[in-house]
Amino acid sequence: MTATWSAPGRVNLIGEHVDYNDGLVLPFALAFVTTTRVSAREDGVVHASSAGRAGTAVFGVDTQPGDVDGWAAYVAGVVWALVSTTVTEPPTRKSQAPAISGGMDIEITSDLPVGAGLSSSAALECAVAAAVGDEFDLRLDRGELAAAARKAENEYVGAPTGVMDQLASMLCEPGHAMLLDCRSLEATHIPFEPAGADLRLLVIDTRAEHALIGSEYADRRATCEAAAAELGLAALRDATLQQVRSLTDSTQLRRAQHVVTEIQRVRDVAGLLVAGCPQDIGPFLSASHESLRDDYEVSSEELDVAVESALAAGALGARLTGGGFAGCVIALVRVARLVPVVDRVEAAFTLHGWRPPHVWVVAPSRGAFRRDEAGATS
Ligand code: ADP
Ligand code: MG
Repeated sequence: MTATWSAPGRVNLIGEHVDYNDGLVLPFALAFVTTTRVSAREDGVVHASSAGRAGTAVFGVDTQPGDVDGWAAYVAGVVWALVSTTVTEPPTRKSQAPAISGGMDIEITSDLPVGAGLSSSAALECAVAAAVGDEFDLRLDRGELAAAARKAENEYVGAPTGVMDQLASMLCEPGHAMLLDCRSLEATHIPFEPAGADLRLLVIDTRAEHALIGSEYADRRATCEAAAAELGLAALRDATLQQVRSLTDSTQLRRAQHVVTEIQRVRDVAGLLVAGCPQDIGPFLSASHESLRDDYEVSSEELDVAVESALAAGALGARLTGGGFAGCVIALVRVARLVPVVDRVEAAFTLHGWRPPHVWVVAPSRGAFRRDEAGATS
């Protein structure tokens, strides 16, 4: 038998650096996907290959963290996470669910930009998790598959990410952004169809690189935890602006101020979308960027230039999206301003002597889906 699943990348419309503060985020799925075809084998061995990458990774279904590195660690990590989930939890919880038996062939293709902050890693993990779960009839729901995908990234690959990316890839719905409460993991699907309001959402990949993203991320996380502890709170999600402004450490104050105001902006944007006013969210996107730049200090010259030139050419709002320092900017534009905005951003990059950015018009798309043998979707 064979099971083939596609899982999308995502962009976060708003709610940056708030997931690990138990906050609210508002991602949506892209139409760019990673597709995985899984076929069971009898010999207990996994053979994984990815189009455009040399060689086949070979490892056992009993793989453990540390056994496999490089891109195949994401795949091995998912197999490991699914084996540990299905070995330890059934038969009590899912009485009839069989665990993974034998080995498998895993073939991967993708049209997602890799390493651009559009979460090709979560797309890969989720496509593998869904296809393996299907092929071996593991009877895990989408939330459980997302949890296994996150476990792979955190504990096998060793990247300390939150659960937003995997839940977005598994759960998003077309024409909707997903309001995710990172404390309860409750997801609410909120209508967001820019095209219906003569709007377009641009993703602009600055193609810039930054070597210290991992340590900067750990530093921000630690400062937020320290600020919450200082205020006697479980997480900054529970802080008011007034409490934050009582912090004596100015770095903690500015970081916490970003978190508290950003969570409020997510609520405001979600409210505007529910009210059917996507054209009014622009100022919140731009305010998010200013807060990330000035209070959270995770922007970069390339990200700032992309945002400023988009706004100068008439974008309704623009912000860095993802962890910052490098990666992508999103800009909300009226259809009539689409070409001038793209031209202005490209011209600004040329002026600085930077590589031209990659620019896509994106629309909220569906979460992971099964493909039949002919490649059609179901
Ligand atoms: P992002 O998730 O923003 O694209 P990451 O650094 O988190 O960036 O993940 C990128 C990594 O994920 C790649 O370096 C590679 O190891 C792995 N990866 C993603 N997509 C694929 C793919 N289609 N084939 C093989 N590896 C992939
Ligand atoms: Mg990633």
